[in-house]
Amino acid sequence: MSGCIRAILLDIEGTTSSLSYVHDVMFPYVRQHLAEYLDQRWTAPDLLATLELLAADAQRPSVDTWLGAGTREQKQQIVVDQVFAWMDQDLKITGLKQLQGQIWQAGFESGRLVAHVWPDVPAALKSWWAKGIDMRIYSSGSIAAQKLFFGHTDAGNLLALFSGHYDTTIGGKKVAASYQSIVADWGRQPNEILFISDVVEELQAAAAAGLQVLLSIRPGNAPQSSDFPCLHVQDFAAVTPWLDGSCTKAG
Ligand SMILES: [Mg+2]
Repeated sequence: MSGCIRAILLDIEGTTSSLSYVHDVMFPYVRQHLAEYLDQRWTAPDLLATLELLAADAQRPSVDTWLGAGTREQKQQIVVDQVFAWMDQDLKITGLKQLQGQIWQAGFESGRLVAHVWPDVPAALKSWWAKGIDMRIYSSGSIAAQKLFFGHTDAGNLLALFSGHYDTTIGGKKVAASYQSIVADWGRQPNEILFISDVVEELQAAAAAGLQVLLSIRPGNAPQSSDFPCLHVQDFAAVTPWLDGSCTKAG
């Protein structure tokens, strides 16, 4: 790394947090709590709105035509069976994403779902924040999901440490133009931003946009093999000394 780092852009999965958390904890949580959630919220306006979207996902004109005239239990079972089938196919359709988001929100807010961050992360983020480093998140998870995640981690609420969030609505993470858009939105020079991620193709795209980059090595991450030269870090505490020196070096 070279030059003065004033801002850090962070990936979540494989970087601040376990790569497998979303698939090993968050998606199974939806399956485990779906029937209970439907029963508790069956007449609530937010669930009714989501059921309309799910009916559209199922290519039915309305909830009533989708679920038919059975009992409440029979209707809920139709929803459960359909949602499980879509999740088996790993579909990212509108109603399904909204329902998953609502179940995760209820889980985080009740304390039954707690987001994972690696043990070195909270102290490092707080020390960077104290140095005036401006931090934002860039993740394929939706901005709403990112905020739930960092608002309810196993180290408490870390959300206030971040000045902004980006998801794939700004572009894909392996595309240089996405990082150019982030730089423009952030109002910073590209080379004063350090991007940390566990995926080399993302680092290549960020570097092509002029950002400084660091490869995150965490337990469970996929091995990265590439000729792309980049420093790596196993512990965020190791980044802090670079920040201290980065604005006082010549050049
Ligand atoms: Mg990642």
